[in-house]
Amino acid sequence: MKAHSGEVGVFVRIRPTANFSQDIIECLPDGQTVNIHHKKDTRKPLCPRKIQRSSWSFRLEGVLQDVSQEEVYTIVCRRVVLGALDGYNGTVLCFGQTGAGKTYTMTGSTESYKQRGVIPRAIQEVFQEVQKRTEHTFSVYLSYLEIYNETLVDLLASLQSSALPSPRSMVVSEEPGRGVFIRGLSLHPVHSEEEALNLLFEGEMNRVIGSHALNRNSSRSHCIFTLHLESRSRTLSDAKYFTSKLNLVDLAGSERLGKTGSEGQMFKEAMYINKSLSFLEQAILALADRRRDHVPFRQTKLTHALKDSLGGNCNTVLVANIYGEASQKEETLSTLRFASRMKCIRTNPAVNEHMDPAAQIKKLKKDVQMLKEELSFGNTLVNRPSVPYDPLSQAQLAEIDSQVQRYLEGSLKEISIISVSQVRALFAKFKLAVQGQEKKVNARLRQTYNLGEEDQRADRPAVKEWDTRGSTEEDEAGSFEVSHKNTQCPSSTRAKTKKSKDKPSQSKRQGEESPLSKKRSDSASKPKLNSVQSPEREQELQEPDTESHEPQESQPNGKEPFHPDSTLTKAEAFDDFKMGRGSKLNRILQENKAVLLERRSLHRQLTDEVNAVKREIDCTAATMQQYRETRGGQGRYSEPDDTLLNQLRELKALYRQRYEVLNDIKAEINYCQHLVDQCRVRLLSEFEKWYKKYSLVPEEDLETSMDNTLDQVSLSECDDNQLPPESSSSESFHNARYRMLRRRNTRSLCVTPEQRSSSSGSGPRTLPQIPPVS
Ligand code: ADP
Ligand code: MG
Repeated sequence: MKAHSGEVGVFVRIRPTANFSQDIIECLPDGQTVNIHHKKDTRKPLCPRKIQRSSWSFRLEGVLQDVSQEEVYTIVCRRVVLGALDGYNGTVLCFGQTGAGKTYTMTGSTESYKQRGVIPRAIQEVFQEVQKRTEHTFSVYLSYLEIYNETLVDLLASLQSSALPSPRSMVVSEEPGRGVFIRGLSLHPVHSEEEALNLLFEGEMNRVIGSHALNRNSSRSHCIFTLHLESRSRTLSDAKYFTSKLNLVDLAGSERLGKTGSEGQMFKEAMYINKSLSFLEQAILALADRRRDHVPFRQTKLTHALKDSLGGNCNTVLVANIYGEASQKEETLSTLRFASRMKCIRTNPAVNEHMDPAAQIKKLKKDVQMLKEELSFGNTLVNRPSVPYDPLSQAQLAEIDSQVQRYLEGSLKEISIISVSQVRALFAKFKLAVQGQEKKVNARLRQTYNLGEEDQRADRPAVKEWDTRGSTEEDEAGSFEVSHKNTQCPSSTRAKTKKSKDKPSQSKRQGEESPLSKKRSDSASKPKLNSVQSPEREQELQEPDTESHEPQESQPNGKEPFHPDSTLTKAEAFDDFKMGRGSKLNRILQENKAVLLERRSLHRQLTDEVNAVKREIDCTAATMQQYRETRGGQGRYSEPDDTLLNQLRELKALYRQRYEVLNDIKAEINYCQHLVDQCRVRLLSEFEKWYKKYSLVPEEDLETSMDNTLDQVSLSECDDNQLPPESSSSESFHNARYRMLRRRNTRSLCVTPEQRSSSSGSGPRTLPQIPPVS
């Protein structure tokens, strides 16, 4: 029997006597029941309660009467000892009044081998089993503890080489995984029955000497003899091992104070004994009561020391030693009551299994080696090249790195997979490669938008840059507005421009209110095709702070910043941009274009007028010339009619006046053209940056698509003589082209010095024909 599950095994052992009171103690033939009969004492006054009850019946696991020491061991203790060898904790307790045979049962007679008690027999059994169980190695240690008047005494302390520990240094302790133990109690390794018996007798000797020295009775103390066992399998190389404790407990006499008439030292002893046994009984009652979740083990040294040896996962057996005489009837009844309560304790014995970390590592290493051998054997069987199962070396890692590089470049078509560790290393390298690419893209974006390296938030500098540019733009916008308002006087424009710089920017930003905000919210509600976003892009979209610096600039109506819809063509995106982010610039551009057109129209009108005056002058001059020639043919010269001369004079004055106005308008047109060009370049460059930033299209693709877009923009956006660059791939190209256009326009509007001198002269100089504005 390995475990004794269920309840605590309780036996009654009756001390042999010649005066056995059969009338009082009745042992039934079943060997398990003992009845106690109360014989009425007619001399004593009647007690109502005692009258009612005159006999008690106790059914226990066994009633041992006239049973030899050997039988007692076999019936009571053997299974507990064998359980301990299997890893179960075991406890055998002897309880009863002084002289009832507890020590006889537990230790027996040290003089007679046949009369030896449970402890020597248990020692013998243990070592016999250790010899038999060759598949395990056992380690056996023993300790012998005495508890006298709540003081812990190490009965084997004399065998220690070191100084004897003071009783005060010993203390009952608990540790997770180790359970209850007595700190300071000596543990003695024993390798044979004889060694163990020597220690037992040494302890018994110390117990008797101690009793004499302290003038005390050895029955007045509790003694706990413990065998500590540890077993490991010889056959299985696992890290498991088992431990167990076999506690053999000889309790102090349980007689009542009044019975012994104790005084002085005896009274003190009896007080301690009563206290400890009373708490032992309380602990047992608590253990027996399943509704109780607290057991008062710590109240005395005895119960604390026996905490994990009473019930629980322990095989527990109690021997209740009783007298057979009628005179001890009360004490016998008390002992049997205690025994029946002990019987109620439920136990659930469990093996104390442990794992040895060092042995576990050793075993796992062995397992790994064996599995490697199995794998390489399997590879050989299927003609697979040998696979390295060890951690990859530096050289192997470098080779994998090279493979990944070549694979990404395209020079290596595929990487042959040979092992799991290689796959892991490949993934790690690919991850590094992706992270490297991400860094490069980030760096390029930062470079493109002049963002600080240290700034981890891509949007913030972009917004800042936009703000900075915005302020410049506002200044320019101010000048645009002024120029628009002061087209008649370009020279005054700059002065007013300066003033306009002081205007609060808020009012200017009102123009930024994007008409696209509605469209944006509409498009936001639509399912997006490109739902997979890059992490950076997601961050951009999720960073509310980055856009909160200038909500007027980038978040019209406080909504999220508008990003180009990937489903739009670039031209469509440009249209969106003009209506949204670039709406202010676009508006200014349109206004300037309108002014320019109006000025051009005025210029055409004035040109016509000047040319008409010119034609009249020519006509008048021709008439006068004809008049002179006619008069000269008649041989006489006469001045033309004053009317003609006055007319000619007036016409020339008119011509000069109109010509001057025309020149002013030409300058205005020139200036307006410059503003329009500048504004358009700005709009396009802002759009290009915005589009690059948010579309994240590769550079080459972007340039191609930009060409197409600008072609479309050119066609849709500009009128015939205001065409933006037909094809541009960069800002500098745009700028150069616009500068060239501006120069051409300026040149075409300029009047040559010859023309100017001829027009300003008062003589019969040919007045310049005004060319049409191009
Ligand atoms: P306790 O330890 O309970 O105080 P002991 O074991 O010292 O009592 O027993 C008192 C005496 O009774 C001892 O001399 C012991 O030899 C004797 N005795 C007790 N039980 C038996 C028994 N079953 N057979 C023979 N002698 C016994
Ligand atoms: Mg005793």
